[in-house]
Amino acid sequence: NANRKFHPEDTVIDVNGAKIGDGSFQIMAGPCSVESKEQICSVAESVKRSGAGLLRGGAFKPRTSPYAFQGMRAEGIELLLEAKALTGLPIVTEIMDLSQLPLFEEVDVIQVGARNMQNFELLKELGRTSKPILLKRGLANTLQELLMSAEYIMAGGNGQVILCERGIRTFETATRNTLDISAVPLLKTMTHLPIIVDPSHATGLSKLVKPMAMAAAAVGADGILIEVHNDPMHALCDGQQSLTPEAFDDLVQSISHILPYAYKE
Ligand code: PEP
Ligand code: MN
Repeated sequence: NANRKFHPEDTVIDVNGAKIGDGSFQIMAGPCSVESKEQICSVAESVKRSGAGLLRGGAFKPRTSPYAFQGMRAEGIELLLEAKALTGLPIVTEIMDLSQLPLFEEVDVIQVGARNMQNFELLKELGRTSKPILLKRGLANTLQELLMSAEYIMAGGNGQVILCERGIRTFETATRNTLDISAVPLLKTMTHLPIIVDPSHATGLSKLVKPMAMAAAAVGADGILIEVHNDPMHALCDGQQSLTPEAFDDLVQSISHILPYAYKE
């Protein structure tokens, strides 16, 4: 059960030593998509140097257009594992279909993307694994629905669920989505599960990533998920919202100044 009423203490998730929900602020960073060995290894080394605790990278990509880059798939996971061997950073990558599960054997955190938040059969099967699951809020889902999806995973015996607020669809078109920042303190009262914020997909604009990441830290999130690319202008996916390694380093510095003042219930 995800309800705080029945489980007052915070759930802490330990990903090979990288803790989420223990009161620290965990940073997951990396490119939207794995593009090459050079790219993922270079981004992994720079985000680690700046203070990221986990490396993210998409191998199976849920693209709106079928003509857009669909990800490197199995090869992308292999390259993530090479970057993990190089840096020691645990890896987070998205699963889109149950058939892909055997490829996730050595993946540290399995991401369920916004578009699959209510893929109940997928959630049930992930509930039978012993991997931490990063569950992103759907584009048009309520917090209650997000928690019910978390419970689909938990009901199978896997209590290691990390919730992610990544923006919801509103009438506003100036940003890719609208970051529902109030979801963080509200979810904290509703559930014991850790909650992180993804300001990259929430805004779609690299300029807004730092202020929204600072906001996430201020409202008491357990961490953030940030898209970082070595060459955002030429990224195969989501370049307009990706930070350069330098901008990411600056973001991490800014967060450290906010953390002592972070809201806590
Ligand atoms: C992603 O993290 O790369 C992604 C596709 O995010 P979302 O599911 O939130 O759109
Ligand atoms: Mn992306």
